[in-house]
Amino acid sequence: MKSGKEMRKMRAGDTYTISGKVCLGREFELAYAEIAVENGIIKSIVETDSAANAANAAEQWIFPRFFNAHTHLGDTVAMDIHTKPGMTLSDLVAPPNGLKHRILSETPSGTLTDAMTQSLKFMKRSATAGFCDFREGGAEGVNALKTALDNSGTGLKALILGRNGGESVADGIGISSTKEGEQVLEYAAETKKRGGFVAFHAGEKDTRDIDAAIDAQPDLLIHMTHATDSQLRRCAESEIPIAVCPRSNHILGQSTSNEHPPIRKMLDLGCEVLLGTDNVMFVQPDMFAEMSFVSYAYGLTPDEILNMAVAGSKLINSPFFIEEGNIAAFFTINPETSNLRFSRSPKKSVVNRGVIPEY
Ligand SMILES: [Zn+2]
Repeated sequence: MKSGKEMRKMRAGDTYTISGKVCLGREFELAYAEIAVENGIIKSIVETDSAANAANAAEQWIFPRFFNAHTHLGDTVAMDIHTKPGMTLSDLVAPPNGLKHRILSETPSGTLTDAMTQSLKFMKRSATAGFCDFREGGAEGVNALKTALDNSGTGLKALILGRNGGESVADGIGISSTKEGEQVLEYAAETKKRGGFVAFHAGEKDTRDIDAAIDAQPDLLIHMTHATDSQLRRCAESEIPIAVCPRSNHILGQSTSNEHPPIRKMLDLGCEVLLGTDNVMFVQPDMFAEMSFVSYAYGLTPDEILNMAVAGSKLINSPFFIEEGNIAAFFTINPETSNLRFSRSPKKSVVNRGVIPEY
């Protein structure tokens, strides 16, 4: 007789079957199903009836893992540093002399790699399977993150965007703002020509650096906290996804309401909206916490929030949605061991409550 846990997941390497209440596909439809995984790929999904499932004691929830669409993992070295009242966004994070850049330049490479390794491990534990990072420090900085990824053993899928020469050894370029000057547009164009990925911070503080960023036809815009309706329409028409980082905007004083970033408006105008956690210096790279904040402050539906937390995986051409043919990037929750047993809506609970995944 197998134990309940063994029955839930029969495993041999990366080939196994698992069953439970599954959050399926791009519509996040909840259904009892058995998933067969072969060599890390979802081979088949067979819906089962709930009575048979209950008999197998397989009441666990199975949800897609998350893609964190905007991080600065290097900032881990300055976690929760004391900042003086009245410091502006530029004082804190603008290159080249903002507080974070001064700290990064003084940090020994071993410490930097160790800090990023620890953040990667935290991300894995909190159900993130991939991320897009703006990596400072040129080629050396990019290589430090690659080393951290190896050291972490997390197997997280990374889209690494360098700058100051780092773009040549990364997947592309992550530009601080078009306010930095004309030259950044040239770097973006060169990267695009090479087939690299181009992303800009835009609209974090005001609208001024947005239009030039959209003109560059990037693969991703970050923030758009203060974007106008017409700027959002341009993004929708050009199909440029937007990574919003609401907790970061609030903690850095760039927003005090759910009007910034205008997530509801973004969705209504047809923009693809993704969720990111931004600087680890101020915000833990925890997608459960980010979803929970969005859920409380922005009044979106669980499906909309889940999509924002998962769909960024399309940026790496490896979607995490639970569909046949996709990689097996999901996590499980056993509601029987906590108050989640009383949940009337697993999707709402996952989005609202910062749950603790099993693996
Ligand atoms: Zn950023």
